[in-house]
Amino acid sequence: MTQHTLVDAQERDRQDKLASYRSEFYIPANTIYMDGNSLGLLSKRAERTLHDLLDSWKTLGIDGWTEGAHPWFYLSEQVGEKMAPLVGGLKSEVIATGSTTTNLHQLVSTFYKPDGDKTKILADELNFPSDIYALKSQLQQKGYDPDTHLIRVKSRDGRYLLEDDIIDAMTDDVALIVLPAVLYRSGQILDMEKLTKAANERNIPIGFDLCHSIGAVEHSLHDWGTDFAFWCTYKHLNGGPGSVGGLFIHEQHFGKVPGLAGWFGSKKETQFDMEHTMDPALDAGAYQIGTPHVLSLAPVIGSLEMFEEVGISAIRAKSLELTGYMLELIEQELGGMDFTIGNPVDGTRGGHVLLEHKEAARICKALKEDGVIPDFRTPNGIRLAPVALYNTFEDVWHTIQKLKVIMDEKRYEKFENKRGVVA
Ligand SMILES: *Cc1c(COP(=O)(O)O)cnc(C)c1O
Repeated sequence: MTQHTLVDAQERDRQDKLASYRSEFYIPANTIYMDGNSLGLLSKRAERTLHDLLDSWKTLGIDGWTEGAHPWFYLSEQVGEKMAPLVGGLKSEVIATGSTTTNLHQLVSTFYKPDGDKTKILADELNFPSDIYALKSQLQQKGYDPDTHLIRVKSRDGRYLLEDDIIDAMTDDVALIVLPAVLYRSGQILDMEKLTKAANERNIPIGFDLCHSIGAVEHSLHDWGTDFAFWCTYKHLNGGPGSVGGLFIHEQHFGKVPGLAGWFGSKKETQFDMEHTMDPALDAGAYQIGTPHVLSLAPVIGSLEMFEEVGISAIRAKSLELTGYMLELIEQELGGMDFTIGNPVDGTRGGHVLLEHKEAARICKALKEDGVIPDFRTPNGIRLAPVALYNTFEDVWHTIQKLKVIMDEKRYEKFENKRGVVA
């Protein structure tokens, strides 16, 4: 491996076709932001569309539902259409609505139909806690004991899942499968196509949580035949804290009755007939429940413009270059410091790098003190996400240099090895 230098990081930045997008974002002062996989940064375009919608409220009052730059009544559908290319869905298969966890509840309520001996839900032991809480509560709602009915596929090494282990667990008693697309800790991308095929062959509905994959990696949910998916928009999609989530329903399920009903799931033309018999939309729109959170959807409109302009394949290509460069620098600069790389180093890595170290919590504090924003994941993980639209190769260079100094000088020792409330 050739030795990397600051000059070569700067040369990579000069060659970078996406470099101009950095100036579209507000980068916190004197900061190298490496946490876009937890909360993406605000862009000027997202700020503009948020102001547009405040303006339509200010100037139009209730008429903002049907007038103004972005009439609120059609916004969830329109933002859904813009997200469709990011998940490989048809426009009609995607809707902007709810949050990750509420969308999961909606989808499980729809797709989990225990029947005879087919009563179990298949998940994995590395999934994000909220998903597991939701699945357990759904089992309880139906009168099943989560201890016996939630099957969590084991990881052999605590970091990764083997697709074949998951497929082996797709037994006759499984009624539903819910898995992450990208694991939030290790960043492993599961082979969604292979898993979908195996589930389809066994007639078990399968859905994926795209929180860590949307906006970072490509998907072909429609072509794969995936039944459903759900995600948030505040990580790689830069929609802002608590921005409205999204979901995908395969076209083959149009016409199915959503488990949780509400008037915003109605056909647009008949919603205001105010009948007590619901006339559900014939596409993903049917999975909405109540009035959309318009002001939390507003920044997503502007943010998605950039994803549309650049295209997800160019974003993925740069993301792989950034994380690849980071992995090479880790090898070059941090040898002998007891770090372990906890993410796949091949093409099955998502948008972030996971460095494991027994002092991770306080190393993160030392990084923050030095202007680098990482993300600590208990018990020993430092997540670093160089984001294609706003991070540079020079950011990656300085991050690893600062980490090296922190380790050389044991600067982390002045902090307690304990996480903060939000970490
Ligand atoms: C971020 C994240 C969530 C968060 O769920 P919310 O309902 O948006 O709070 C859930 N699952 C995964 C895998 C996540 O990464």
